[in-house]
Formats: sequence, C-alpha cells, structure tokens
Amino acid sequence: MGLFDIFSSASRKKREAATAAGLQTGLFQQCPVCREVTEKQAPDALLKETEQLADSWVDTGDNRARAFGGDADAFKTEIRKLKKSAPFNCVCERI
Ligand SMILES: [Zn+2]
Repeated sequence: MGLFDIFSSASRKKREAATAAGLQTGLFQQCPVCREVTEKQAPDALLKETEQLADSWVDTGDNRARAFGGDADAFKTEIRKLKKSAPFNCVCERI
C-alpha cells in the first residue's frame, strides 16, 4: 500500500489528528490532486493557533484528540514534528 503502513495504528491516529488540526488553522495545506500535506510558510502565529486548537480539543474531549489520551503536550509535540517533516511543495508542484 504505502509509506503509512510502517506506522502503527496508534501513531497513525496521532499523525492524523495533528494533520487535521494543522489543516483547520491553515498551518498545513492538503493538495486536492495528490492529497499530500504540505506546509507553505507556516508562520509561528499559525503554529501557536494550531497548538491552542490542540489544547481545546483535549480540553473538550474532542474525538480527534482521543489518540493522545488527554495529553495535550504530546499532541503539540506531534504537530511540531509533523511541521518539521512536511514538505514545502507537494509532488505536483515538484514536477
Ligand atoms: Zn499535489
């Protein structure tokens, strides 16, 4: 299937939650063609906003934060990790 198979389902869920938070604030973009998640410029303000969103998901018991079991710090670490690993351009733009 793909690269994501190497992740356990737990870490995949965490990654998905971090992606969802970043996409909601605009920290990350998802290409409508290849579905790759990228970070265009991701200023610090947007990172902060995404971390606040992560906090609020944990606080309100949002389903999307469930993979972190109420650990907001782990959620924020995952967001930072994802931001570091996200490519600047997706496959389509690299052609
Ligand atoms: Zn693309």
